[in-house]
Amino acid sequence: MRSVAAQVAVFVLSLLSAGHLAAQAIAIHVDLTDAPRNIYHAHLKIPVHAGDMSLVFPKWIPGNHRPSGPIAGLTGIRMEAAGQSIPWERDPVEMYELHVHVPAGVESIEVSLDAITLQESAGAGGPAASSNVLDLNWNAVVLYPKGTRSDDVQCEPSVTLPDGWRFGTALAVSWQGRGTVRFAPVSLTTLVDSPLIAGTHYRKIELTKPRETPAHVMDLVAESETDLAMSPQDLAAFQKLVAEAGALFGARHYRQYHFLLTLSGQVGGHGLEHHESNDSVAAERFLLDPNLRMLEADLLPHEFAHSWNGKYRRPAGLATPNYQEPMVGDLLWVYEGLTDYLGSVLAARSGLRTAEQYREALAATAAALDHRSGRQWRPLEDTGVSVQTLRLLGSQWESWRRGLDYYAEGELIWLEVDAIIRQQTRGQHSLDDFCRRFHGGESGAPKVVPYTFDDVVRTLTEVAPYDWETLLRERVKKTSTHAPLGGIERDGWKLVYNDKPNEFLQAIEKLTRQSSFTYSLGFTVGGDGKFADVIVGSAAYRAGLGPGMRLVAVNGRKWTPSVLHAAIKAAQASVQPVELLVENAQFFKTYAVDYHDGEKNPHLERIADQPDWMGDLLKPLTH
Ligand SMILES: [Zn+2]
Repeated sequence: MRSVAAQVAVFVLSLLSAGHLAAQAIAIHVDLTDAPRNIYHAHLKIPVHAGDMSLVFPKWIPGNHRPSGPIAGLTGIRMEAAGQSIPWERDPVEMYELHVHVPAGVESIEVSLDAITLQESAGAGGPAASSNVLDLNWNAVVLYPKGTRSDDVQCEPSVTLPDGWRFGTALAVSWQGRGTVRFAPVSLTTLVDSPLIAGTHYRKIELTKPRETPAHVMDLVAESETDLAMSPQDLAAFQKLVAEAGALFGARHYRQYHFLLTLSGQVGGHGLEHHESNDSVAAERFLLDPNLRMLEADLLPHEFAHSWNGKYRRPAGLATPNYQEPMVGDLLWVYEGLTDYLGSVLAARSGLRTAEQYREALAATAAALDHRSGRQWRPLEDTGVSVQTLRLLGSQWESWRRGLDYYAEGELIWLEVDAIIRQQTRGQHSLDDFCRRFHGGESGAPKVVPYTFDDVVRTLTEVAPYDWETLLRERVKKTSTHAPLGGIERDGWKLVYNDKPNEFLQAIEKLTRQSSFTYSLGFTVGGDGKFADVIVGSAAYRAGLGPGMRLVAVNGRKWTPSVLHAAIKAAQASVQPVELLVENAQFFKTYAVDYHDGEKNPHLERIADQPDWMGDLLKPLTH
């Protein structure tokens, strides 16, 4: 980890060596006709000077917050100038850097390279393309001179698409014909910030009225034509989302905005934010299946809110001058946590989720974090700082290790901040006022305004006087035995557990075919009987169970979710433990789980005689 000041110093030095290459543009053409077999062919023409130089492949990817540039997929590299092959050599320490000696008289080199996209989809697992859809992230197909600012590198991008495929992107088209599309020149920053999706099944939906600016467009690609059907209610809700975000922030920092939405179970699921678009993948039947729609209702509101919180306003440690400078994630509880809060609130305000669904989702979040045993050793901030190592880990021992908790716990912290502002100002102000001050300003083209912890505290103090510094340091820098549930309670609600299923968790169980006994016995179990995770400190943990073991039988009977539910019920009226026969690496053993408190599903319950600030929070700002 390096400090921001050190980054700036290194960057100034590297600028001096970069000369004036920035003035000429890199021409980059990507042949996407092989996308269905997940190989993208790129051809670059890069302006150079004679002598030794280094070309770099983007390493630290915005929105991923980590060195996730898909270097392992970079293949078929060939360089030449004036028909002569030019040898290159990889730096033996920095894998993302290629050394080249440019012969005298050569002003540009031609570089061919392929990106294998089977394991990489915008920083998430899974392929970037399928038989019917593709996602092009330009960072996967570009090299640029080492030491240059991405703002200063000009690019002239173009693509060739598979026959008959249509596309969506925030880039401006300058020419189009015979499957090839040329885009207006942009900086490397804008190029990497402007992914392109394409597919055999494509639909464009206008979310703003004709002639209204800036325009908001939803570009949909899907595995089948039927998946593209959007109900009038959903269309109205997405239009309202655009209006609600405008009313919340009071300004828009883009010239036009594209929701690039891929509906597919064949490519890697992700949501990646950009200034003028978001690149999101949802389930194939997202628009058709009410269960999926409810579960993923905050995906687009979250990514949209990032245009303000994360792209326009960005923590200083994440606002790097190019893609080789390391990022620092200490303020991810603002970058992602506030966005998680806003994504859920905007989903409710725009009608994508009901207030009851918002509360069920919030109860699920609060319960999960309150059972994170790892909070005893790992402060929240460390989950952000550790994003490089935490990002793609599985569920095993997650409660003890902690996951990317800066998202969900950030939501709870910002809910608490909102409730305190409402209480301090007797309902006159809320976190909405903070958002207007912090993320508003003047509308216009994208730009980045970095911030520090002190800037956050200062703006909060302008909205409502309070010792924000102490509160926030306590929440993010200290360990604690319980999740910060103060926001829920100040809002007039409390977290309770009972035998009634949680609507949100039930939908997840249906989707993942896992059964959660997290708050009763203390584990989640897959359809195949494998424990996905065991909560440290729970009855199952005390009995000796661990993730990866496989449940075979419950009290002597073959395991099924309903057999296990029946056993929990029976144990309530008994002093006998629940006996689980478990297979662990080829050996079988019976574990006695001493638990008698019945089913426990989280919900929020009203605190009588206290005002319902949460009700106010979810009210739309527009009519
Ligand atoms: Zn996010």
